[in-house]
Amino acid sequence: MRFVLLLEDNPERVERFRTAVRSLGSDWDIREWRDSTKMIAECEDYFHEAALISLDHDLTPQLKDDPDPGTGLRVANFLAGYFPICPVIIHSSNTDASWSMHNELRFANWRVERVAPIGDDWIPQIWLPTAQNLLSVPTDSTMVRRPSDHSSRMERALLSLEGLAIGDALGEMLSYRFEDAQRRIAEGRLVGGPWFHTDDTEMALSIVEVLRLYGFINQDALARRFSWRYQRDPDRGYGSMTRKQLYALQTGADWRATAATAFGGQGSMGNGGAMRAAPVGAYFADDFGRAAGESKDSCAVTHTHPEGVAGAIAVAVAAAAAWQSRDTPRTGRSRDFFDAVLSHTPVSKVREQIEKAAALPEALSLQDAARVLGNGSLVTAQDTVPFALWCAARNLDSYANALSTAIAGGGDCDTNAAIVGGIVSLATGRESIPADWQNARERFPFDVRD
Ligand SMILES: [Mg+2]
Repeated sequence: MRFVLLLEDNPERVERFRTAVRSLGSDWDIREWRDSTKMIAECEDYFHEAALISLDHDLTPQLKDDPDPGTGLRVANFLAGYFPICPVIIHSSNTDASWSMHNELRFANWRVERVAPIGDDWIPQIWLPTAQNLLSVPTDSTMVRRPSDHSSRMERALLSLEGLAIGDALGEMLSYRFEDAQRRIAEGRLVGGPWFHTDDTEMALSIVEVLRLYGFINQDALARRFSWRYQRDPDRGYGSMTRKQLYALQTGADWRATAATAFGGQGSMGNGGAMRAAPVGAYFADDFGRAAGESKDSCAVTHTHPEGVAGAIAVAVAAAAAWQSRDTPRTGRSRDFFDAVLSHTPVSKVREQIEKAAALPEALSLQDAARVLGNGSLVTAQDTVPFALWCAARNLDSYANALSTAIAGGGDCDTNAAIVGGIVSLATGRESIPADWQNARERFPFDVRD
């Protein structure tokens, strides 16, 4: 099915649009909204089948007491946060507003035409030929590659995201009293929600959105979501190099250039690619090789240094391994987990340190492990990922213990706990995440709909 997504408040016009769309062929259908808020909340679910979007600007409430339907400009703003999906027609008689919508979308590289609703037959006579003309330019059909089991993959990605977000928020809150974190968590002495999450979750949200829409890591789309989220909400604790890159993306730079030129052309070896990689591993949990490849792509949008990339791969494969181990009895579980990670992580300092983590004696204290492996205080991938995997491997049966171990190790507490949470939640399942933690975390955009 190919869909025209329509924002239009006049029922008579909707009928005429229907007739026009039917004339395009039997596999065409229309999905209409009369309210911008509702359209923004629901239209993403149709993006993967959308061939054309047509937007009115001025909207009036159907009944006197209906909520304010907003305007088409709100929808244009919303769409501009995405990499272009299909062409757009703006069919509004409000000329100034049409131009605002046009500019908003044009600057975000969408293909846009304006149509003035003049006369009685403008839909078949002006709108339809404009639509046919826009549709005659082929759109890249390789853009959306959702596999047939997309929804079960998304369930896993959302579970990992939830584990990651709670780890991130809790790690951030307890980072200044990390020595006391285990006791506080055990005794339930935590502040009430909502728990503010940081850049780790913001970037992971963008990853999950891209997977949700495309079924793979579309790097252009991911770069757009990263910079859109940053522009909307910059104070999430982003590192200074990431801020610079995201700012450059907003001003029109290509991610290929900004990622490669970071750190004097070496690319970043920070832990930013790893901190958001677990949901990628969750989505591709049935295939370690694919998890590794897609996480590499998700990392390369901002981090191109081989250490940064190795860190992201290790975390994604660890997430996939955690999910695969969910029904495995305890013995040997941690060994299998490390084996999977090591067999897919490229030769690097990250890998060397993971090997060391896998071989540490069972009785070694947390502080000693952090001393040997690092704890993220250098914010590099090699100083962060091995320790996080060590915390995860020892606690694949308990989400709460995994987080409290990660946080008590000090260092980059929010990122350590985000990585560990994104991995271990896949082994333990949602039911093992304390209900009051789930309620306390900040809401996601998906929560509204699902
Ligand atoms: Mg952070």
